[in-house]
Amino acid sequence: MNVFRSSSIKELSPSYDPWDPITSLRQQGRHVLTSVEMTVTNLCNMRCEHCAVGDALTAKEGEMLPLKQMLDRLEEVEHLQTISITGGEPMFRAETVKNTIVPLLKYAKERGVKSQINSNLTMPYSRYELLLPYLDVMHISFNYVNGDDFHEVGFANSGHPVSKAAAYRLYDTMIENSRRLSGDGMFISAETMINYRTHTKLPEIHQLIRNMGAKRHEVHPMYATSFASALPVLSLPEMAAAIHELLDNRDPEMWMLFGTLPFFACSSLEEDQLLLRRLRTEQNVTLRNDPDGRNRVNVNLFTGDVFVTDFADIAAFGNIASRKLDDIFVEWQTKHPLNQLVNCHCDAANCCGPNLLVADMYYPNVDFKARKAITL
Ligand code: SF4
Repeated sequence: MNVFRSSSIKELSPSYDPWDPITSLRQQGRHVLTSVEMTVTNLCNMRCEHCAVGDALTAKEGEMLPLKQMLDRLEEVEHLQTISITGGEPMFRAETVKNTIVPLLKYAKERGVKSQINSNLTMPYSRYELLLPYLDVMHISFNYVNGDDFHEVGFANSGHPVSKAAAYRLYDTMIENSRRLSGDGMFISAETMINYRTHTKLPEIHQLIRNMGAKRHEVHPMYATSFASALPVLSLPEMAAAIHELLDNRDPEMWMLFGTLPFFACSSLEEDQLLLRRLRTEQNVTLRNDPDGRNRVNVNLFTGDVFVTDFADIAAFGNIASRKLDDIFVEWQTKHPLNQLVNCHCDAANCCGPNLLVADMYYPNVDFKARKAITL
């Protein structure tokens, strides 16, 4: 088996983000699979109003596939550089942490592959502590300015009342876990989505994230999918104004990563070009191309089904029971009609096309394949 093993211990930084598909695209001359995301649970203690996988959340779940089956499929991925672990809340059950998450992270570490887990950080510290020797990025969502916000947003779809006191306990646990884990050397990357609630509060949210000890602040638009599909969508000028305000008020020493933004170098609007220029030239600010379907697939560890992401309403296009991940990815890349809609690439602009959901939300009638970057 010809599997690439990296001896690199390169640190993540604004100049090294292996999740960005543009790097492997340049190296290989085509998109290759470098990143595998795994859904390890559909359970969660929260029901956020914007949850992109809300409709998939369950109260009970069945047996997971044997871990060896997943590890064998990972081992076959020739250019693997990163793995991501997601849910639901991956840390919800202690057994999942012990029997699935830690072995996956150990595998990644041993192979020289970077790892990320998505968590709401409200679980007991003892579970997170187990990840300290192996994990590269603890990715959390943070969209609040206080416990009241957390209460309102985090349990909007619970279907039963959740007391303010209970929500505050979880909010405090999240903040305390973040401070403690950061102090113990964990790289916390806190993501804020820009939506109708957060767009006027981003500088305040940024400040809180900084105080929690996070090393990176990620900012993405809200994806109007699943639970979030009923929420108001921000206009593009509102979103641009929110980003400018955040840039005006951020800590310039903190790494800020903007992903899946709905602004592109092929836009003829001067304000879009201005915003992109600002994002490209500000210190410690990076723009990440969307990994979903570009260099990454999602595998559901209960069914073995392979998806373009954990949340898009696009049917599975393969299963690890019968096929290699590299083969499934090549078929998506070369044959799937949805990929053909957005697989443009303007190298000088560092851009390899929009996220499918973002394109659908803001540019339903635009043919990105017919466009080219304008200002470089
Ligand atoms: S790669 Fe696509 S989205 Fe990006 S600038 Fe070029 S045409 Fe626009």
